[in-house]
Amino acid sequence: SCAISPKAIVSDACASYSTLEHLNHDVKPALDDLTRTTDFFSHYRLNLFNKRCPFWNDENGMCGNIACAVETLDNEEDIPEVWRASELGKLEGPRAKHPGKSVQRQEPKRPLQGKLGENVGESCVVEYDDECDDRDYCVPDDESAASKGDYVSLLRNPERFTGYAGDGAKQVWDAVYRENCFQKSSFPQSASLGETYSVPKGPAAQDFRAVMQAAGRQQVLEQQREQNPLVPFVAKTGLELEDECLEKRVFYKVVSGMHASISTHLCWDFLNQTTGQWQPNLSCYINRLHKFPDRISNLYFNYALLTRAVAKLGPYLSSHEEYTFCTGDPAQDADTRAKVLAVTSKAANSVPGPVFDESLMFKNGEGPSLKEDFRNRFRNVSRLMDCVGCDKCRLWGKLQTAGYGTALKVLFEFANNDTPAATTSTSDEIPFKLKRTELVALFNTYARLSSSLEAVQKFRAMVEETETES
Ligand code: FAD
Repeated sequence: SCAISPKAIVSDACASYSTLEHLNHDVKPALDDLTRTTDFFSHYRLNLFNKRCPFWNDENGMCGNIACAVETLDNEEDIPEVWRASELGKLEGPRAKHPGKSVQRQEPKRPLQGKLGENVGESCVVEYDDECDDRDYCVPDDESAASKGDYVSLLRNPERFTGYAGDGAKQVWDAVYRENCFQKSSFPQSASLGETYSVPKGPAAQDFRAVMQAAGRQQVLEQQREQNPLVPFVAKTGLELEDECLEKRVFYKVVSGMHASISTHLCWDFLNQTTGQWQPNLSCYINRLHKFPDRISNLYFNYALLTRAVAKLGPYLSSHEEYTFCTGDPAQDADTRAKVLAVTSKAANSVPGPVFDESLMFKNGEGPSLKEDFRNRFRNVSRLMDCVGCDKCRLWGKLQTAGYGTALKVLFEFANNDTPAATTSTSDEIPFKLKRTELVALFNTYARLSSSLEAVQKFRAMVEETETES
């Protein structure tokens, strides 16, 4: 079999880029069909406007200092209004309001199903009140909010360049990477391979580098040392990595891979503010991705991880016939169902054996105790998305953290066999329980990664072409 171990660096052996690219070639048409042509998967419900950033004052998050405000305004004045970051980041299209609790109350509560409410002017979007589940890896979006949020068309609001940058964006990314510190806050006297440490700025940083070098590590990467002393070091090595801190490395890969995918989309669908054309921006790709092979590797890693989660979900979905995607219209329901199963079966069959082997995680050493830490940290990353100061970026940031959260839940909380979970569950246990928002987020996140892989391949060809020419 050719499974990617979570400790693998994706370019290794059978877990090569080309294996995953072939797989993607096979899965992508079905995935695009699902996410672009079905009501169920092309709309997302989220609380986009009513939640405050729980970690700092959002107003500061948007623009923390006067220099930033002045700089932004200076730049903005130079470009036509419709191209300004504030305009580009806005949502487009009508947003359907949630029909409200009165409609929901008419229906008995059945968490396995979504059902069309009466007198609702749109199809396939009503679901029951969600409950928190302690297996969740992200915060259900309506956890504390009085309102159930808005339904947003994902097709009308593609993930692309918005111009959102500066202190606000940086503050969010810095905080996302800080979540990877896993209780290691003091200066380490010895360092474990692949582990992430927070080290104070100044001489201690030099000491740390010396420790790493003395221990024979080949490379120590520094991230944003100048700007933020608390951003962790990531110790890297060319040696075989130990199982020891596998979970922490996986956490880092997931967030870095998500970041890489967002960067890929904004570089691929970039607005040239001089010509007004939306087009790929090769130097954006080179500067953010091509020069950093580890980021691209993490992107492919995420693709493998999501493929495995989606493949694992197939038997659950096909064996739970009562999971209806839109009971208001049986024909549409059957169509959506067929399209979902087309994706799950392609994800499962395109390569021999599972593409990612999650069974190695949370097993040895401190593994089991790390699971809760891992889950809590991922929840914090999902909460951080409320600090993103651009509507469209927040939409896709929230959707993708929810998508990864769902993938992790499927991988680590669902029975690990290919037979329906009903055979392994007790009568108290609900064998298959994913909210509509989780399913939509999972498949759309997979679709984002799928188009990132395609864009990276095209960008790579463009780089080769320019190298041949010069
Ligand atoms: P950033 O991308 O902000 O990166 C900050 C630092 O993180 C870098 O300097 C580098 O040290 C490190 N880093 C970068 N990439 C990686 C990686 N893959 N792995 C590990 N470390 C890395 N902008 C848009 O135009 N459209 C969007 O849809 C969009 N969505 C966003 C969603 C979120 C959640 C956030 C926080 C920001 C989003 N942005 C979006 C803004 C965008 O991600 C960048 O922050 C912005 O373009 C500024 O880029 P930068 O070059 O300063 O580096």
